[in-house]
Amino acid sequence: MRERRDLPPKSERKIEPFKMFGNVYFIGSYAESSHVIDTGEGLIMIDTGSTPNLAVVLSGLEKLGFVPSDVKYIINSHWHHDHTEATRAMAELSGAKTLIGREDYEKAKRFFDADILISEGDTLTLGNTTISFIETPGHTKGTISLFFNVEEDGRVVRAGMFGGAGVNTLHQGEFDYEGCREDYRKSVNRLLGEKVELFLGNHSWNNHTYEKSLDLSEYGENYFVDPESWTRFLKSCLNKLDETIAKDTI
Ligand SMILES: [Zn+2]
Repeated sequence: MRERRDLPPKSERKIEPFKMFGNVYFIGSYAESSHVIDTGEGLIMIDTGSTPNLAVVLSGLEKLGFVPSDVKYIINSHWHHDHTEATRAMAELSGAKTLIGREDYEKAKRFFDADILISEGDTLTLGNTTISFIETPGHTKGTISLFFNVEEDGRVVRAGMFGGAGVNTLHQGEFDYEGCREDYRKSVNRLLGEKVELFLGNHSWNNHTYEKSLDLSEYGENYFVDPESWTRFLKSCLNKLDETIAKDTI
């Protein structure tokens, strides 16, 4: 891996679209993650990003040999604009159905009107992939997390995403809703009980998507398959929550 000092400033970082593992691809930017799963019967997209990110996502699809109409579903991890603002345009271009956690439906309406509301325990199946959803409120009330199996060369691993990890909405005065800190802690503790081998970042810094994409060979063949990184990240989320609460209490 390149030394940290060699990395360009965050605003200049670009990520070329690439295959993470099996049928899972990253097509987002440094600031705004977008993934697609190639199910064999079309693509499931996870998050679109803000309006300027639409161009990144469309060019990512093209570079990987897909066309917009391949996208059948767009899952939105939570209502914030950096995950959903481009969803309406992407849905219009593709004809895809859009999904969001039921508790984020109203707030997301400023960006798009979701076709399907996700509740605890729901699943979505397309082609060879079934995604399971759980509700993980905290960052927003309707934040959802998702899990699915991915296969490559006969090896099956479990993929997962924590759909909203930022503590920015957990500062006093910034709350998405009352009780968000308690919910966030419960959600993270619950996610710690899930086994995830292929960790998809809700932002690229969650799982070092950018650094790994720069020099894939340094990480070996299956550089994103790492059961430790899910747990490590979730523990860091709990630390950040504690720091946030401590700061506000001083
Ligand atoms: Zn957010």
